[in-house]
Amino acid sequence: MSVVDFTKTPVSELYGSNCFSNAVMRERLPKNIYKEIVAVQDGEKELTLEVAEVVAAAMRDWALSKGASHYTHWFHPLTGLTAEKHDSFIAPTSDGRVLMEFSGKELIKGEPDASSFPSGGLRATFEARGYTAWDVTSPAFLKQDSTGTTLCIPTAFISYYGQALDKKVPLLKSIDALSKQAVRVLRALGNEKTKRVSTTVGPEQEYFLVDKSFYEKRPDLILTGRTVFGSMPAKGQEMEDHYFGAIKERVAAFMRELNTELWKVGIAAKTQHNEVAPNQFEIAPVFTTTTAAVDANQLVMETIKGVARRHGMEGLLHEKPFAGVNGSGKHNNWSMSTDDGINLLDPGENPAANARFLLFAAAVIEAVDRYALLLRSSAATAANDHRLGANEAPPAIISIFFGGPLTEILDNIAEGKTGGKTESGVEIKIGVTSLPNLPKDVSDRNRTSPFAFTGNKFEFRMVGSSQSIATPNTYLNVAVAQVLSEFADKLEAQPSGGADSSNQAIANIIKESYSKHKKVVFNGNGYTDEWVHEAERRGLPNVRNAVDALSVLTRSEIITLFKNHHVFTKEECESRYHIYLEKYAKQINIEAGVTIDMARREIFPAVSAYAATLARDAAALASIHAVSVPQEKRAKRIAELASELFDETAKLETVLAEAQGTEEVFAQAKAYCEKVRPAMDSVRSRGDTLEKLVSKEAWPFPGYDDLLFKL
Ligand code: ADP
Ligand code: MG
Repeated sequence: MSVVDFTKTPVSELYGSNCFSNAVMRERLPKNIYKEIVAVQDGEKELTLEVAEVVAAAMRDWALSKGASHYTHWFHPLTGLTAEKHDSFIAPTSDGRVLMEFSGKELIKGEPDASSFPSGGLRATFEARGYTAWDVTSPAFLKQDSTGTTLCIPTAFISYYGQALDKKVPLLKSIDALSKQAVRVLRALGNEKTKRVSTTVGPEQEYFLVDKSFYEKRPDLILTGRTVFGSMPAKGQEMEDHYFGAIKERVAAFMRELNTELWKVGIAAKTQHNEVAPNQFEIAPVFTTTTAAVDANQLVMETIKGVARRHGMEGLLHEKPFAGVNGSGKHNNWSMSTDDGINLLDPGENPAANARFLLFAAAVIEAVDRYALLLRSSAATAANDHRLGANEAPPAIISIFFGGPLTEILDNIAEGKTGGKTESGVEIKIGVTSLPNLPKDVSDRNRTSPFAFTGNKFEFRMVGSSQSIATPNTYLNVAVAQVLSEFADKLEAQPSGGADSSNQAIANIIKESYSKHKKVVFNGNGYTDEWVHEAERRGLPNVRNAVDALSVLTRSEIITLFKNHHVFTKEECESRYHIYLEKYAKQINIEAGVTIDMARREIFPAVSAYAATLARDAAALASIHAVSVPQEKRAKRIAELASELFDETAKLETVLAEAQGTEEVFAQAKAYCEKVRPAMDSVRSRGDTLEKLVSKEAWPFPGYDDLLFKL
């Protein structure tokens, strides 16, 4: 891919050139059809086949004019990746020519053979077919690679019997649920204008880059995405010289191309910088509506990988590619916005806006406290276990950073204080004429909180770097929808009586909710041991591994929650639980297999040979000096460790076989978590010590010094 010269093709021209955006639709569709599509996007209408026909024709013409030959329904199966099945536009005619065809039917519905995607028992193979349906809320785009140019149609994926087989369908339903309840609350507050509330998301994506020549010599990176062996060099991230440091030339060229590629498909990649760990980076797009943000993030991940390869590097999206330096997460910045442009989590300019803000913020706080386990489970993967609950950010305890001044206001409301000033000087008047005026700058930063208020949005920081953000957002939306529905019930039950009584009602709701759920608010340092004890005292759950975290999906109150908001049926909930546990087990199964292979077939032979050389040298030297030489000591130490490595590998093999033979899915995942994982660590610790005892040439893999510091 050539470098784009922005003096010839300005960014404004390049931006969105491969995206079938609303702007393109407005230009290419008849006015009435465009209006219909916008109404469908806003959830006001159903898509009709007639409208679909017109859009399909316009989409096809647009794609063909850009050189596309194929189209695909691009969807999110439960693997967490995206899937596509390419169909050509060509339709042969009877006289041996072809027409380029694409109908409304093909746009609305596709039928991939779904038998190989995980369904968690929802679909027997004889009814393997699933349906895909166009998701109008996320724009179609063109993908360009060696296969040519393909029109990608963001799609939801449903089984023959209408059950969701993907991550998109529940997400769309959760957005509807939240919208419905948020609008009810707004109506009760006297807002007659807002028709729809959508959630907005801006995910910050972290990743590592490594040189391809080193990557290719690491079977663990190739097969598992992380290093299962590797000892830290003398330097790690302690100098903090990488974070926001000057970007290296080679990385800069990569970032330039990454931005260009993303801009083309209409993804507003905006900030980029070095992260905390060496060779770790971050890219953040401008936030957008949730479905578009979810799709865009999948594309960002794919594009990082693709562009890195073109630059002789490999992009690592794994949550913890390297032990000893920070792992990678995805900060899910989240807010709620009305169709008439109000950010409901923006403190606002006047007392009425402030009252609304406090009410919605209180709802989020209550939701996060009540559904902490559910949110925790949305970030529960084998890879993310290396971050959450290990010695790394953020902790596995869900808490909210709300900032000093705002917390003080809520504390005062909870204590029923109706006037006066808070300690920080913020005036509060409640129940008389207005709720408090809010301090202007509420955006102080706390980097240790898993769920932080950052001025006009909440930032959920537990999400892993390689995860799809669909599930975390689905759970968050549903949790908040539930609390908002209860708030709405209370507000609607109030007799209408002007602004004062409405403010009183709001204050009462906040008081009741916050008093009960303030325990989840914590503005201090989340990385300390004191916090772990304090959280325990407060009764906040601290679930340290993904397997335990996932079991929340079997709880009756969670199943009821999803059912009430039409997001999952009981069966769908159960099937997901199974799929996630299986995925956990499979991932560790592969890692254990790779550990055994590397230990047995590469490390053991290499260090044995090295020790033998040392021993021979020692004997030769001893014959000259007639004293014991350091080579002998070293050879002995290596031989000892090699023998331990050998034994620990055998133990790992035994527990692995046990785990593999465990039938029941939860018990199996548990076995991987509690038996296989520690056994892998034991093998690793021998390997990592050995790495430091042999010469660099004798070690069979590139080390952390190569992987982390050379680019
Ligand atoms: P930091 O790294 O300090 O957390 P960044 O500026 O890198 O912050 O990222 C902030 C992210 O939050 C961006 O993706 C931005 O678009 C997003 N964001 C800003 N406002 C909102 C909002 N109202 N809703 C959702 N995301 C938002
Ligand atoms: Mg952030």
